[in-house]
Amino acid sequence: PLTAGIVGLPNVGKSTLFNAITKSQVEAANYPFATIQPNVGVVEVPDHRIDRLVELFHPKKTIYTTFEFTDIAGLVKGASKGEGLGNQFLSNIRLTDAICHVVRCFEDDDITHVEGNVDPIRDIEIINLELIMADLQTIDNRLSKVERKALTNKDKDSVKEVAVLKKLKEALEAGKAARTVDLEKEELDIVKAFSLLTLKPMIYIANMSDVEIAEPESNEYYQKVKAYAESEHNEVVPVCAKIEEELSGLDKEEKNEFLQELGIPESGLDKVIKTAYRILDLCTFLTAGEDECRAWTFKKGMLAPQCAGVIHTDFEKGFIRAECYKFEDIDELGSELAVKEAGKLHLEGKEYEVQDGDVLHFRFNV
Ligand code: GDP
Repeated sequence: PLTAGIVGLPNVGKSTLFNAITKSQVEAANYPFATIQPNVGVVEVPDHRIDRLVELFHPKKTIYTTFEFTDIAGLVKGASKGEGLGNQFLSNIRLTDAICHVVRCFEDDDITHVEGNVDPIRDIEIINLELIMADLQTIDNRLSKVERKALTNKDKDSVKEVAVLKKLKEALEAGKAARTVDLEKEELDIVKAFSLLTLKPMIYIANMSDVEIAEPESNEYYQKVKAYAESEHNEVVPVCAKIEEELSGLDKEEKNEFLQELGIPESGLDKVIKTAYRILDLCTFLTAGEDECRAWTFKKGMLAPQCAGVIHTDFEKGFIRAECYKFEDIDELGSELAVKEAGKLHLEGKEYEVQDGDVLHFRFNV
């Protein structure tokens, strides 16, 4: 499964947020495939479409799709030089698919800031610099190996690789993330093998007080982070980690009531989950029946047989066709029968590119 790593300086609210994640963790009984580890939190991806299918089908079982967060505590200034537990933490980030960067946007004299005062942009730049330095090391190591090959035997692949590495090196040395460099598909394929940290998509999580969260724009730190994120084409999600921790102990109904009282339309954690899902180009297809209504994750661009394979490898091997309709159609018409009668159920073959919100039944040979 894809996973987003949570990073940030000490005392910015990472543990508080991660506690909220583990407390809202899925029940292992429903998700036997989820590996539950102490530094990993597996959460359901909120999806109103599943809620609606449940109303229509009254299934015995309801399963949302899931997303994983990994707690990567301990990234500090100097990590790329091996300070603290630096290198170990950097290699933990290497294993993640996206980075959630928690930034302190709250004032509290009782909670020390490692840098002395609240200044989210400085904090962002400290962490980003560590990530950039780590990538520079990776690139330099690789360059020293492959450059020789490119020079001595003029090996075509090596020459290409050196060109990409140099392009990235130049950006990194200018303090820019690898993701800001325009790379062709072929170049990206070359670079993929190195798991560069600054190539991973990033979300900033602006942690602010329970009062300001109702109107994030009122927080001047948030405004700064937002402008900074926009300049990098990254997203920022405002949260109040403390509220998220309280919310995580409540059931759905209580949660909604509490949010309403606070004047917040949606839990910040839910927003983080959805944003992480989106920036990783993840989509959802649905399966619906009286036994089970379920959401499944697939990567944008996947064809019907591959999506069948998400459910079971045998489904992919023996794929014949998919019966498919849009969630919007059943939402409007109220039943599968009505969808069929309206001519909105389609048979799709091996070349069909599955769309977000498709409801699918797979036909396959065993
Ligand atoms: P970490 O070091 O980044 O994991 O930070 P923690 O989650 O341990 O938080 C550090 C301290 O800040 C704890 O005492 C938290 O209770 C507190 N804290 C976290 N979020 C907030 C917040 O939104 N507002 C305030 N005032 N305190 C917070």
